[in-house]
Amino acid sequence: MDMGLTGKRALVCASSKGLGLGCARALAGEGVHLVMNARGTEALAQAAQAIRDDFGVEVIEVATDITTADGQARALEAAGDVDILVNNAGGPPPGMWHDWNRDDFIKALDANMLTPIALMKALLPGMMERGWGRVVNITSQSVKSPIPVLGLSNSARAGLTGYVAGTARQVAGKGVTINNLLPGIHDTDRATALDQGAADTQGGTMQEARAQRCTTIPAGRYGTPDEFGAACAFLCSQHAGFIVGQNVLLDGGAVNSTL
Ligand code: NAP
Repeated sequence: MDMGLTGKRALVCASSKGLGLGCARALAGEGVHLVMNARGTEALAQAAQAIRDDFGVEVIEVATDITTADGQARALEAAGDVDILVNNAGGPPPGMWHDWNRDDFIKALDANMLTPIALMKALLPGMMERGWGRVVNITSQSVKSPIPVLGLSNSARAGLTGYVAGTARQVAGKGVTINNLLPGIHDTDRATALDQGAADTQGGTMQEARAQRCTTIPAGRYGTPDEFGAACAFLCSQHAGFIVGQNVLLDGGAVNSTL
């Protein structure tokens, strides 16, 4: 299927590894020129060069912390009038409800709620003026099925989800769609860190923690960044213009729910 994206431009945040990289590669595969971002310069440079080599698209690298005002300004300057925005950042650490203080919450809200909102506020007006745009926010399955030890993530992502619910419906008439992709467990550094945390808490090995987690996923495995990226590219495609304000689970069936 031709996604109709050749020649479009996208800002893909937090995209040197993992799910963000999966999205960047899938969009590049459809002929989209990219602005890629991450804090670490080395992994970002490697990921960007691999995309140039594999797909022949232009890639601008912005090595910065996207959760800071300065980082957002630098990414937005490089992005200019992009057609597509993929919002992403690292997830907050696990913990216990009684341990988190105000600073912990502010950090989580900055990363997983206020940064995507700031970038949408900056880029939506141009997309609306030009009559076409796509925003995909990477959130989490925890929006539909909260994960107790990820209370900081649950809180921040619930806030972003609420903002998107209204905003998506306010901009849809101008040809701009906003949707959220909700990853269940995917094979990335983040999943490895969570497995290590589970192993440390439960006193087993990481392999045991992973095998245990697989038993909770009807598909019997972790998702891949490529699968995730393909879903993102579809939501950004010409064919997805009638999908508005949705929260799309990619979780191998882990959330046991019909609606
Ligand atoms: P990952 O493999 O750890 O990759 C994170 C990427 O984001 C890296 O490129 C990292 O590069 C970049 N990054 C992190 N913080 C950043 C910041 N402040 N500014 C700019 N770039 C930043 O993580 P992932 O598994 O792809 O997860 C992506 C998001 O999905 C996270 O919010 C995570 O909580 C959520 N999620 C993941 C899963 C899963 O199973 N993987 C499940 C549910 C939700 P640098 O470190 O160099 O900045």
